[in-house]
Amino acid sequence: MRILITNDDGVYSPGISALAEVAARFGEIRVVAPHVEMSSAAHAITASTPLSYTRTPMAFGEVYRVNGTPADCVSVGMYRWDHVDVVLSGINLGSNLGNAMWHSGTLAGARQAALLGVRGIALSTPALEVEPDFATLKPWVATVLELLLPALELKLVNVNLPPKAPKGVLWTRQSVRHYDGTVVPTRDPLGRPRFWISVTPIEEVEDGTDRWAMERGYVSMTPLRLDLTHEEQLATAQSKHPLDKIFFA
Ligand code: MN
Repeated sequence: MRILITNDDGVYSPGISALAEVAARFGEIRVVAPHVEMSSAAHAITASTPLSYTRTPMAFGEVYRVNGTPADCVSVGMYRWDHVDVVLSGINLGSNLGNAMWHSGTLAGARQAALLGVRGIALSTPALEVEPDFATLKPWVATVLELLLPALELKLVNVNLPPKAPKGVLWTRQSVRHYDGTVVPTRDPLGRPRFWISVTPIEEVEDGTDRWAMERGYVSMTPLRLDLTHEEQLATAQSKHPLDKIFFA
C-alpha cells in the first residue's frame, strides 16, 4: 500500500513525523508537505505562480517540502508518485471539529485526494500549551488506521483524537453550531490597530457529533462527502419553483 502523507502545519511539525512513523507500519510512505505552516489555508490552490519541491533529509523516509498549500502538496505528490492508495493529512496541532472543517488546511489535504479519486483521511488533535502527547496517541492512530485503511468504501474521513488517553473510538457526524463572529481590536508594539478574528458558539453541542465525542474523551471519526447539494431544498425548490417551462433567449 502506498501512503502519501501531508499536513498544514509544515513539514517540520512533530505531528507529521508521529503520523509517518505509525503509517510506515501499514505500507510504503512518502511525505510531501508545505515548507511553512499553512494552517487555515482551507482548500486554496496555488494557481498563479509555479510550485517547486525540495527533497529534505528526515528520519522518516522520503520527504519533500513544497512552497504551496496542503492541496498543492497532494496534487504534486500524486503527480510525482505513480500510484497512491491513500492520502493521510496531519496529525494537525489543533482539532478540526464542526465548522472548523471549512477553514482547515489539514482536511483540505485529505479532500484534495478525494477530488483526485484517491481516499483521504485527516487527523487532528487539540493544541494545548504543551505539545500533544504523541507517544500516548500513536497506538490510537494505529487503531484508527487499522479500522479505516481496509474500509475501501470510506472515501473521506475526518478524525479527531482527544489530547489525553482516549476512552475509545466513535463514528460521528459533523457538528454544525451557529456562531457569533467576533472581531477583537488590539494594537501592535508600534501602536498600529490590529484585529483578532474569533468566534463564539451560540448553540449547544449536538449529541452524536464530532465535538460531542471529543468532549467525552473519544476519538471521533466522521465520514464526509464531496457533494454539498442540499437534497431536501433542491426537491422543495423543484416543486415550488418549477423551471421546466422557463426558456431563455
Ligand atoms: Mn494546522
